[in-house]
Amino acid sequence: MSNLVPITVAPGDGIGPEITEATLRVLRAAGAQIAPETISVGEAQYLAGHSSGIAPESWDSLRRTRVLLKGPITTPQGGGFKSLNVTIRKTLGLYANVRPCVTYHPFVKTLHPEMDLVIVRENEEDLYAGIEHRQTDQVYQCLKLVTRPGCEKIIRYAFEYAVNNARRKVTCMTKDNIMKMTDGLFHKVFDEIAKEYPQIETEHMIIDIGAARLATRPERFDVIVTLNLYGDIISDIAAEITGSVGLAPSANIGERIAMFEAIHGSAPDIAGKGIANPSGLLLAGVMMLIHIGQSEVAEKVHNAWLRTIEDGIITADLRGSLSVGRPFGSMDFADAVIDRL
Ligand code: NAD
Repeated sequence: MSNLVPITVAPGDGIGPEITEATLRVLRAAGAQIAPETISVGEAQYLAGHSSGIAPESWDSLRRTRVLLKGPITTPQGGGFKSLNVTIRKTLGLYANVRPCVTYHPFVKTLHPEMDLVIVRENEEDLYAGIEHRQTDQVYQCLKLVTRPGCEKIIRYAFEYAVNNARRKVTCMTKDNIMKMTDGLFHKVFDEIAKEYPQIETEHMIIDIGAARLATRPERFDVIVTLNLYGDIISDIAAEITGSVGLAPSANIGERIAMFEAIHGSAPDIAGKGIANPSGLLLAGVMMLIHIGQSEVAEKVHNAWLRTIEDGIITADLRGSLSVGRPFGSMDFADAVIDRL
């Protein structure tokens, strides 16, 4: 019987196919025991009449493999079809979005050399629950949904993550001075669950000052747990502080299924040019390998990637960092990682 672990791969659109190809090329060269099943998601599937943006056989693949490596997907702004990313997270119950943001000083240019934090973002509720409607031509409404079971699940996940990854502090960020019931519940559950983890230092910050401190003193944070919308926004800020939004990976974890992706979007402005940084998706691939029990290969890929950056081989988004010369394209960068495996 084959030892290959089946995984589902959705290259997405925009820069998605380019960075997916680069990522799979590195994972294969490193000896990852994976058997990718490629599915198509997004606009083409809506046009083919699949209202969820994914064909039924692709959902079957996901439910069978229980692991998805996903490229970014474009979502129309201000109208059009619903975000497929949100649909996938909600349909598969991927309640925890884990986004590590680390600086690679002195190799990648950053103002904050000591930053090493993880954002644990609630992934199913809040204003992303999808309850939005028109009241009149002048008035539109979006409902913010926060449940006690949802808060308990994500906050416990953040504390367990801290314990299992030798982290010392969990910071909760909410806006409970204004949204006293919804954000208030999140904060209250945080205080309750914190009592079960006396070895972990805890603090609460109102999201405005939390985001400001994140921008000026990111090294003071360790694990941050927050609601869906705030987590989405502050993780882009945190990733950008590390040097580029193109560097950060993310895992979306559910009870049965997990999805791994870069935190950035489909970058239509550079799509098709072969210059996108594949690092976010590649490091998501590293998180995926750990998840499926291939930690040795994961470490090999991660070390080769670090050596690549340390050797001054960078993509165009990291301009200004230590560099051997002109920026590398996505595939050349992937080959440079392979050379260092
Ligand atoms: P974006 O993250 O796609 O791009 C923001 C900026 O960062 C652009 O200048 C882009 O060129 C740059 N960038 C992003 N990734 C890069 C990489 N790997 N290498 C080099 N540069 C990179 O954000 P956006 O422009 O606001 O969104 C574009 C589309 O992506 C939208 O439709 C949005 O809905 C979608 N999106 C999808 C996901 C996802 O699939 N998980 C996440 C965020 C946004």
